[in-house]
Amino acid sequence: MSAGDVVVVGSLNMDLVVRAPRLPAPGETILGGAFATVPGGKGGNQAVAAARLGARTAMVGRVGDDAFGRALRAGLEADGIDCAAVRDLRGEATGVALIVVDDDGRNGIVVAPGANARLAPDDVPEAVLAGASVVALQLEVPLAVVEATARRARALGRTVVLNPAPARPLPPALLADADLLVPNEIEAGMLTGVAVDSIDRAFDAGARLREQGAHTVLVTLGERGVVLVSAEGARHFPARSVKAVDTTAAGDTFIGGLCAALARGRPLPDAIGFAQAAAAISVTRPGAQPSIPWAREVVATAP
Ligand code: ADP
Repeated sequence: MSAGDVVVVGSLNMDLVVRAPRLPAPGETILGGAFATVPGGKGGNQAVAAARLGARTAMVGRVGDDAFGRALRAGLEADGIDCAAVRDLRGEATGVALIVVDDDGRNGIVVAPGANARLAPDDVPEAVLAGASVVALQLEVPLAVVEATARRARALGRTVVLNPAPARPLPPALLADADLLVPNEIEAGMLTGVAVDSIDRAFDAGARLREQGAHTVLVTLGERGVVLVSAEGARHFPARSVKAVDTTAAGDTFIGGLCAALARGRPLPDAIGFAQAAAAISVTRPGAQPSIPWAREVVATAP
């Protein structure tokens, strides 16, 4: 049975990325440039980040019985992630994201969830949750799975980290079952109605999320860092100053690093510092999973 100090229950997608001079208009065909297949999905990205950043990591998810599914599994295993609870689903396609990136760096994305949408609460083995210290959840798999897993993990006394992405209304019981709620500024805005365009507004959004039932909220603010709002009060943690080339997967690197540090027993402020240092490295490199650093790189850059 799979085991990990960090268990990620979530999505696995193959990103199909085409560069093009611009995004096509409805009904239009345009010629693009280079094409790449890149492992992705928030679940997979966060698992890779947790593993590279030092945690024994297990993944729970579903892929199709197809070439993309085999490639995703092989990639996770190459990062040392236990995939015993990643199931192949016959007759279902692996999740894919069709991504067009234009010359200005803008993108248009369509996700076909495929096998991710078929993940069921019973696919999450009790032994995997029992063996974990931290359980990471996002919203790219059915909400019923997220709710049931959060409830079970909390009952076992595990630390539940919920990344509410993509944003959608959250049942109060799910907020109450998450020890840490980690939205980015857009998600925090969608969940609260507060336009999170400053650190002060992030404090407001965090306070509102606590009123809705969240315990501890971390709002990630890109280059402005992170705001922590908890029962003990509110605090801003500035980001590392780096030259960003591609912020894809910054949030996933942050969450994976946070989970890995918490699983090592680090106090929350330390874990935030470590996760921000890792995320800052990721934004200096292109791509999603290829940009995620290893723990030794983070230690080497510590101030
Ligand atoms: P998401 O990718 O989900 O939108 P954010 O953009 O908020 O998440 O980034 C998550 C974390 O990554 C931030 O809190 C910060 O620590 C780090 N980060 C993101 N962008 C930058 C940047 N330009 N410079 C330094 N750190 C960054």
